[in-house]
Amino acid sequence: MILEDDRKRANYSMVDPQGRFEALADRLREEGHRLTPQRVALMRLLASSDGHPSAADLYDQLRARFPTTSLATVYKTLNLLKELDEVLEMGFSHDENRYDGNRPYPHPHLICVRCRKITHPDVGAAQGLAQQVGHESGYQMISHRLDFYGICPDCQRKETEPESEVSVSSP
Ligand SMILES: [Zn+2]
Ligand SMILES: [Zn+2]
Repeated sequence: MILEDDRKRANYSMVDPQGRFEALADRLREEGHRLTPQRVALMRLLASSDGHPSAADLYDQLRARFPTTSLATVYKTLNLLKELDEVLEMGFSHDENRYDGNRPYPHPHLICVRCRKITHPDVGAAQGLAQQVGHESGYQMISHRLDFYGICPDCQRKETEPESEVSVSSP
């Protein structure tokens, strides 16, 4: 029992970037799409990135190696992967869309409202939630979204650190 739970958690929280990249590349090839060097580099970034980058983040990283690449090219590949259900796109009203190329299926996220960092909470309990909701409501579940908002430990530390050496003493 414990073994099975551990394995499930390991599958859920660990992604092998090389394996994920190969899966993405195979999928595009199977669908008859060209694997240009830019596209390969973008897929490597997506496969190895755990931070849920925006298109602009990916573009910034790509531009170093491919100065002629454009943001439109990045979006084109992202949209293609999205259509193939190989990348998860998250839209926000106050922030750019963010992408998860490691886990293209619905899963919970932890979002820091200060630094906009997006990580994965270490819980398996959320996995059964969609099934349970579907079961109890009679809905045929298509997708779900579970976001936890908060202030990450790094930002909490920054906020409690004294800004300067000057101490204010009462008169
Ligand atoms: Zn994610
Ligand atoms: Zn933060």
